[in-house]
Amino acid sequence: MERRSLLKTLSAAAAAGAAVSLGQGRTLSAEAASGVAATMGGGGPLAQARDAARRGMPPLKITNVKVIATAPSSSNWTIVKVETSEPGLYGLGSATHQEIPQAAQAYIETRLKPFVVGKNCDEIEDIWQSAYVQQYFRSGPESNNALSGIDGALWDILGKRLGVPVYQLLGGKVRAAVPLYGHASAMELPDLEDQVRKYIAEGYQCVRVQLGVPGWSGYGVSGAKTSAATQALRPDGVSPSPVFDPGRYLTRTIQMFEYIRSKVGFDIGLVHDVHERPAPNQSIELCKAVEQYRPFYMEDPLSPEDVGWFQIFRQETSAPLAMGELFTNRNEWLPLVANRWIDFIRCHQSAMGGLNMCRKIAHCCEFFDVRTAWHGPGNVDPLGHCYNLHLDLATPNFGIQEETKFDEKVREVFPGAPVISKGYMYANDKPGFGIDIDEAAAAKYPYKQPFEERGNDRLLDGTIVRP
Ligand code: MG
Repeated sequence: MERRSLLKTLSAAAAAGAAVSLGQGRTLSAEAASGVAATMGGGGPLAQARDAARRGMPPLKITNVKVIATAPSSSNWTIVKVETSEPGLYGLGSATHQEIPQAAQAYIETRLKPFVVGKNCDEIEDIWQSAYVQQYFRSGPESNNALSGIDGALWDILGKRLGVPVYQLLGGKVRAAVPLYGHASAMELPDLEDQVRKYIAEGYQCVRVQLGVPGWSGYGVSGAKTSAATQALRPDGVSPSPVFDPGRYLTRTIQMFEYIRSKVGFDIGLVHDVHERPAPNQSIELCKAVEQYRPFYMEDPLSPEDVGWFQIFRQETSAPLAMGELFTNRNEWLPLVANRWIDFIRCHQSAMGGLNMCRKIAHCCEFFDVRTAWHGPGNVDPLGHCYNLHLDLATPNFGIQEETKFDEKVREVFPGAPVISKGYMYANDKPGFGIDIDEAAAAKYPYKQPFEERGNDRLLDGTIVRP
């Protein structure tokens, strides 16, 4: 048979689901005819694989990408809605870039939307890889958050098509629910102890503890205000600002660990966020001093600019180290993991490019005994918390999860948002991420202006301090 007519016969047989006769009593099944036709048609092995993969699922195209801006809580959240060629079937993803939401939004609307519309929804990996390199200057928080929005929506769509939760697509549950740590912070030790005891009474097995220095600024304590007496210590001509003092912070934090351990014992895990503020040698000094109080981990003891200190850090202290919420590319986290210089990886999933990238980070960490502790504060939107939740459920080398509790306003905008009870976060087991967005409700909460400001703490003499 001439090639063109054979191809036509095979394609027709495949489309009709009928076997085709090859003469001399031989037949080819419709399935086999489809494969042969794909190969003869020039599609090659990739086209065959696509065809085989879709045998149970009709082709599905991306038809539209929408950006939904909303702020029902204290942060500005950017959600991506990917619509498909199947009426009513869409996916949702997290593209929240808290500090410059317009940047991620513009990147989606001007670059990613035109790039992905018309592509097959089930080619998640290929869309991620090709979208990642379709800009030459890549791997920054703006483009990664934008990519995360598209990527997450595609995982959501795949789960909905198959009728399974995303954690099932990641290999299935290895735990029933996700253990969380709560946030305790205070200016005075007895108040901090009360908060820790409250979490313990609720069932939490781990709590983050932050203690302010009276009269001085500090990270993670709302009452840490700079006093007039502190301002009076500053040189003439300095611009007014909150004032942070690394030495006083160290002294106070060591006192905090000693006090809390003396009051509640060693059964509860204690996390502390250094937040990259002290100089590297001061951070090492702090971690060495609190080793005896056995922290669950010390978080971000160095800034991303100072990762070259981690080898020295590791040699100097056995305090467990968690790192990574400001990372945006593999050259930042991979050496820390491969050299076993950290114990917990805590990237902000959307800033890394989303679930598709972070599932690989989790797997890579498994081989180096590094556990996950994904960033989960209020500037992660509910879709981002779903990324954390579903990956946590399916990751054997999971460590702990930072929590954010959602109030009624958030639940009105995001029906199906994860539920927290007695120190655990639960997935609702619906297909995809199991969460939806009420766009009319979302529109009631426009972005807050001005956006959150960072980086205005200074030393006494006026030197800027890392945020
Ligand atoms: Mg942190």
